[in-house]
Amino acid sequence: MIREFRCDFHVHTCLSPCADLDMYPRAVVSMALARRLDIIAVCDHNASENVPYVIKCAVGTGLTVFPGMEVTSCEEVHVLALFDKLENLGPLQDLVYRHLPGTNDENVFGCQAVVNEHDEVEGLSERLLIGATALPLERIVDAIHAAGGLAVAAHINREAFGILGQLGFIPEGLPLDALEVNRRMGLAEARRRHPELARFAFIESSDSHIITDIGTGITRAMLKEPTLAELKLAFEKRDGRCILE
Ligand SMILES: [Zn+2]
Ligand SMILES: [Zn+2]
Repeated sequence: MIREFRCDFHVHTCLSPCADLDMYPRAVVSMALARRLDIIAVCDHNASENVPYVIKCAVGTGLTVFPGMEVTSCEEVHVLALFDKLENLGPLQDLVYRHLPGTNDENVFGCQAVVNEHDEVEGLSERLLIGATALPLERIVDAIHAAGGLAVAAHINREAFGILGQLGFIPEGLPLDALEVNRRMGLAEARRRHPELARFAFIESSDSHIITDIGTGITRAMLKEPTLAELKLAFEKRDGRCILE
């Protein structure tokens, strides 16, 4: 049976330097449940070490956690990579780390904590996660698809790090699966303002960097089950699946 799933596909954790330290895995899952979400995607900047712990915290709760990442391209465009199998994230993470220069300065950018399902700090990432990779947008989208994921242009209504703000347009033939707006714009306004992007699926997410923001922007998806294959069908409006607008 196809039913509505409440989804927030853009949630950071305390691994992102710009996210609050109280966004540790167990807290993220608790808030997602409190906000009656069915699916979240964990998308830290260029990193994914907290994803397995968020998944562990969600076991038995009814919440589905999609492994994800918010990758920064060399054009400084943010792209969400969404998966539903943890092992598929590995090849993308390897590629990103091979092309991500620099070391984090905690005092300038913030702390990057890997925290396990028992709220214990496993370590601190020393990479410059807030930085841009040397990877062109097109290469990132191809790598996401090669690993079986979906590629979503993040917060296209934001001037900074959104594809429209950075490039001014969406390159012809770039095979994005969907475009994301945040709650300040919303889906109805996005459709009104961007008739030229009518061919794309749109989602709304919270892009939460503080715990109480989780679920403040959501996508309502009509799916049979909480899988990436179903979400892909919804993006393509096929077989009765869709994103509610
Ligand atoms: Zn972003
Ligand atoms: Zn983000």
